[in-house]
Amino acid sequence: MLFIFFLVPFLSLAQGRQITLVIDPGHGGNDPGHLSEDRNHLPEKDLNLKIAKYLGNYIERYMQNVKVIYTRTTDTYPSLDERVAVANKNNADYFLSIHCNGNDRQGARGTESHVHAMSLEKSVQLARNIEEQFSKRAGRKSRGVKDERDLQHSLQVLKYTNMPSVLVECGFVTNRREAEFLNSTYGQEIIASAIFRAFRGTLESNYPDIAFRRTTSSANSSASTSSAFGIQIASSKAPIATDDSYFKKAKLTIERKELNTKSPYKYIYIAGRFASKAEANEALSQIRKRGFKDAFVVAL
Ligand SMILES: [Zn+2]
Repeated sequence: MLFIFFLVPFLSLAQGRQITLVIDPGHGGNDPGHLSEDRNHLPEKDLNLKIAKYLGNYIERYMQNVKVIYTRTTDTYPSLDERVAVANKNNADYFLSIHCNGNDRQGARGTESHVHAMSLEKSVQLARNIEEQFSKRAGRKSRGVKDERDLQHSLQVLKYTNMPSVLVECGFVTNRREAEFLNSTYGQEIIASAIFRAFRGTLESNYPDIAFRRTTSSANSSASTSSAFGIQIASSKAPIATDDSYFKKAKLTIERKELNTKSPYKYIYIAGRFASKAEANEALSQIRKRGFKDAFVVAL
């Protein structure tokens, strides 16, 4: 069982790593963004905020090891400098600005994903994945990935953020059919879901050693309302019996879980089950003394 012993330190490090995403709902406050001709339709700023929140909720519900930070969660206007500062100060790993498009030509339609420059590989990778999902999952017309040369000016939030950054245009509010789609809950949800899938896929290919998908049990209870905690003591590529002699020194009941992850280390081993994080932390110090030095507390 030597191989588990060596895996634990490596994996707990990898699993302790968290990816930070800053979601920036464009415009807000006195800046409504693009407007639809139909007075019953919401201004761009409100659509951006709704899509941004659906996206953040999907990530929090279905993913782990990802921290979401918003530049705004209400109808306010942070300046472009402030939006950039939120991303840079938090050392975000990704920055995603959510917008809807507008054009004098009412026929203009489709989605676009903007990057600062085509030479920025990680930004382009995420932008391409988003456009692919917009087309495949949300059934939109994709106008593709564009950079500052296409726009003939640079976008401040893309130019000055230090991490891979993409600005998505989810459709034209000046196009009657797209405005109706973007104003429907279905439209907002499927657009957010397309961005969510693209983001998750991008992370899974760039960080194969981090498990991003929540297990079924933790998906049922959101992180903040979790009523059970355990101590992860090991992980492995192939399933190992929970009564294996390696686990005996933990002196707690061992539960094996199979993660829905692309990481080869699909199986994790949880010792004990505790009603509060405080109790789990107390048991954690015992477990560490018993030889599981890199064990850590997880919400179940
Ligand atoms: Zn905009």
